[in-house]
Amino acid sequence: NKKKSLSAYEKACELIPGGVNSPVRAFKSVGGKPVFIEKAKGSKVFDIDGNAYIDYVGSWGPMILGHAYEPIVETIRRQALDGTSYGAPTLLETRMAELIVSMVPSVEMVRMVNSGTEATMSAIRLARGYTERNKIIKFAGCYHGHGDSFLIKAGSGAVTLGLPDSPGVTESIAKDTLTAEYNNIQSVEALFDAYPGEIAAVIVEPVAGNMGVVLPELSFLKGLRELTTRYHALLIFDEVITGFRLAKGGAQEYFGIVPDLTTLGKIIGGGLPVGAYGGKKEIMQQLAPVGPVYQAGTLSGNPLAMAAGIVMLETLNNNPSIYTELDRKAGKLAQGIRNNLQKTGIPGVVNRAGSLMTLFFTNLSGVKSFDDVMQSDKQRYAAYFQSSLEAGIYLAPSQFEAAFVSHAHTDE
Ligand code: PLP
Repeated sequence: NKKKSLSAYEKACELIPGGVNSPVRAFKSVGGKPVFIEKAKGSKVFDIDGNAYIDYVGSWGPMILGHAYEPIVETIRRQALDGTSYGAPTLLETRMAELIVSMVPSVEMVRMVNSGTEATMSAIRLARGYTERNKIIKFAGCYHGHGDSFLIKAGSGAVTLGLPDSPGVTESIAKDTLTAEYNNIQSVEALFDAYPGEIAAVIVEPVAGNMGVVLPELSFLKGLRELTTRYHALLIFDEVITGFRLAKGGAQEYFGIVPDLTTLGKIIGGGLPVGAYGGKKEIMQQLAPVGPVYQAGTLSGNPLAMAAGIVMLETLNNNPSIYTELDRKAGKLAQGIRNNLQKTGIPGVVNRAGSLMTLFFTNLSGVKSFDDVMQSDKQRYAAYFQSSLEAGIYLAPSQFEAAFVSHAHTDE
């Protein structure tokens, strides 16, 4: 019975640009048919025709504890009864900040926003205010949200996520965004040399999730730390994907690098819209009203979102075994992929950190391990794996989507 979803699709196309294909939807269509999700529980989502699907991507990252996780549902219900937005600081916001500061090594002070995009744009604004410089170095293929200046071609002609220039983006915006090459420290140094005293910050995905889980060379991250310090620019780790995921303290803990500013999103709100950015006190205190850099948001730190985020972060913070268990599974996953590569005779390397990152991108509540998928559904897994290989990347987010499609279960 696809009648319901087909008529819903027509209506969506009339009202929403792109209909169900509007960007960043994990579930667009299955078998070429549009899918409208009605509800979700655990690792599954259910469409309006009553079909169930496994949500491998955890709704593009945030739902790592599964959909409608009881403790989060309960806290949202209780908080809704106490009010959802006060426009004033709360104990909840303070508790959330306390958790972030205790979990993320470099963060001494933190400000809440509503998304990863807001977090990165605010961090950049702050870096510009703090350094009184304008130019930002980013890396080709790294994604930092939909803020205008990041969706444009810059410097060496790189394109973010294959997105074209937005018409109307002016040269003046473009010229302040310089693009370097990931894992190529010389390309960063060349930009520092070309623009002496002009670069405010380097922003990097410490694991390039948006390039298909490309791991950094440790020497590259160390080089970024060293160069930014030498040239008095700030190092911003965009940990919207890696935060609380690669390790409890994110990529900075995993790789032992201390950035100046960190941006967070996805997991942090337990499925509600929350982003955050934080770092050294001295820098964060440049924010108004203490300092001159203005940044504020109507719903930032709202108690409903904070309540959900607190349950999410406390769950991760109080259960370190989640991380050791994941690391174990990551080892197995890396081994499984290596074996598969060997069987197909295709050369390739998948290491533990890459697997860990990948595994933690998934919804952990029911799809506990990719081994389950492999064993229960060898043929489909083979197709999935093959598609990863053909794309030249392993288990990239876009491949998860393909995996979802090919693994679509129409039974419960
Ligand atoms: N930064 C990174 C590394 C991301 O992957 C994303 C989103 O995927 C963002 C920033 C933007 O976050 P949001 O989509 O919550 O605005």
